[in-house]
Amino acid sequence: MSGRVYRVKEMVYTIQGEGSNTGTVVVLCRFEGCNLSCSYCDTDFEGTDGPGGGVFPDAGSLVWRALKTWKGPASSRTVLCTGGEPLLQLDRALLETFHREGFRVLLETNGTMRPPPGVDFLCVSPKNGAMPVVEKGDELKVPFRIDEFPDLERYLELDFTYFYLQPVWGSDYGKNLERVVEYCLAHPRWRLSLQTQRFTGLP
Ligand code: SF4
Repeated sequence: MSGRVYRVKEMVYTIQGEGSNTGTVVVLCRFEGCNLSCSYCDTDFEGTDGPGGGVFPDAGSLVWRALKTWKGPASSRTVLCTGGEPLLQLDRALLETFHREGFRVLLETNGTMRPPPGVDFLCVSPKNGAMPVVEKGDELKVPFRIDEFPDLERYLELDFTYFYLQPVWGSDYGKNLERVVEYCLAHPRWRLSLQTQRFTGLP
């Protein structure tokens, strides 16, 4: 027993829209709250009032909701833990409970906190040019804005399988996309990540 309450903004059955798991069907579990306040943030992570959201008194009740939300075969169960910053809440007890019920656990974190051991796919998305405290994982995904070009070379020293650049959505999207494309073409270790949920309309 972890003895803690979990607060979830939304929990929905959907398709991962970005990064190397684009197209993967998941239960998206968006935890409430974040420890950063990025100027370009457009994610609603406050409160527990979204679809499937709520306050869960323990890991078992949260995972039970995830089981009810999953519509596919048991052998494909996948949960995407995101936020906000999911590591404010995702702890060892919750991770183990997901695993006990056969879920593959994907995690998207801003890289300011260390995850519990055993996450199945770790995506670190450092913000505002910061270096993540986690130096190893599956995917490093850097949001890119034309007016704030981070030092991307130093990220390549970290031990990640995939390196993604993702143009930030907003009024400068066209310019952000153009610069990312240009950068990836010149630096092929970086891949282009597009937020496909922008045009599928999925969460
Ligand atoms: S880390 Fe992500 S969720 Fe948190 S404020 Fe920044 S963009 Fe928003």
